[in-house]
Amino acid sequence: MKLLVTGGAGYIGSIVTRMLLDAGHQVVVLDDLRTGYEVALAPDAQFVNAPVHEVSRVVTADAAFDGVLHFAALIAAGESMVRPEIYWRNNTIGSLALLDAVRAAGVPRLVFSSTAAVYGNPTELPIPETAVKSPTNPYGASKLAVDMALTSEAGAHGLAAVSLRYFNVAGAYLRDGVALGERHDPETHLIPIALEVAAGRREKLQIFGDDYPTEDGTCVRDYIHVEDLARAHLLALEAAQPGEHLIFNVGNGSGFSNRQVAEVVREVTGHPLPVEVAPRREGDPAELVASSARARATLGWIPAKPTLHDMVSDAWAFYRTHILEQQ
Ligand code: UDP
Repeated sequence: MKLLVTGGAGYIGSIVTRMLLDAGHQVVVLDDLRTGYEVALAPDAQFVNAPVHEVSRVVTADAAFDGVLHFAALIAAGESMVRPEIYWRNNTIGSLALLDAVRAAGVPRLVFSSTAAVYGNPTELPIPETAVKSPTNPYGASKLAVDMALTSEAGAHGLAAVSLRYFNVAGAYLRDGVALGERHDPETHLIPIALEVAAGRREKLQIFGDDYPTEDGTCVRDYIHVEDLARAHLLALEAAQPGEHLIFNVGNGSGFSNRQVAEVVREVTGHPLPVEVAPRREGDPAELVASSARARATLGWIPAKPTLHDMVSDAWAFYRTHILEQQ
C-alpha cells in the first residue's frame, strides 16, 4: 500500500514507519519536526516537512494514497491542563484538516492514535472500549473529539477508520543497526525521567501524588512495549472496513504503580534511584488498565514483550547508547 504517516519523526510514528517499510509498503512521512527528530526519519521513506494542518498539500487525489496513519499530536497530559488551547489546535483541528483532505482525495482508510486518556477515571477495570468516556484532561478530550469525528466520518462518507487507544508506551526499537526510542524535550514521561535519574543526569525522581485510591497510593498505569503497539497498527490497517470505525484498546492488562516502575528501573539499571513524593499532577486519573480482549480477538494481536522488565531494559539500552553517549 502507499501510506502517509503523520508524525513519522516521533517515537511511535518512526517505529511504525520502519515496520511498514519492512512489510513492503511505500511510506511518505509528514512531520514538522516540532517534537519529532530528524534522526528518527527512515531513509527509505519520502519526507515532507509540514504541519498536519497543511496536509492537503500532500494528500491529493493524484497522490493516490491507500491509507493514512495519523500520529502527529501533542501528548503530555500535564501540559494540556495549563496550555489546553495548543491541544485543541494541534490534536483536534489538525485531525479535522486531515479528515477534510482524506475525504477530498478519496483515501479509503485511516488509523488513528487515540489514547486511554479518553476514559478519565474509569468506572470499570480493566477498561473495555465500551466504558464511559470522561477525560480528566484536555489531552484526552482533544483525542476523544477526533474519535467521535471518525465515527461520523465512517458512517457518512464510508471511511474505513480504526482508533487504537494506547495505554502507556515504553521500550525501544533496536534491530538491524537501527535504534529508535523515546526522547522528548523537555521530558515529561515517567520511565525516561527515571532513567535520567538512574544515569545521574537528574537529582531525583518526583512521584506525583501518593494519596490516590490505589494499593500503594501512587497512580497505576498499563505499560506496553512500543514494538507490540507498532505491530497493532499493521494489523489495524488490514482489519479496517469501509464505513466502519473500529476501536481497540492496546495495553497488556496489568497495572504498575509509579513506585513499582521506580523499582523496576532500579533493578534493570543497577543504579540508585532517589525518589521524592511531590504533589499530584493535575488531570491524572488514578488507574488506567486496559482490557485488550477485543484487539486480541479481532486483530489476532498478541504482545511479544509483555513484561515491564523487557520494556525498561530496551529503553535503558536506547538511553545509554543514543542519548547519554551522544550528550
Ligand atoms: N509521573 C511522575 N513523575 C514524573 C512523571 C510522571 O510521578 O516525573 C507520573 C504521572 O503523574 C502519572 C504516571 O507517572 O501518574 C505516568 O505519567 P506519564 O506522563 O509517563 O504518562 P501518562 O499516563 O500521563 O500518559
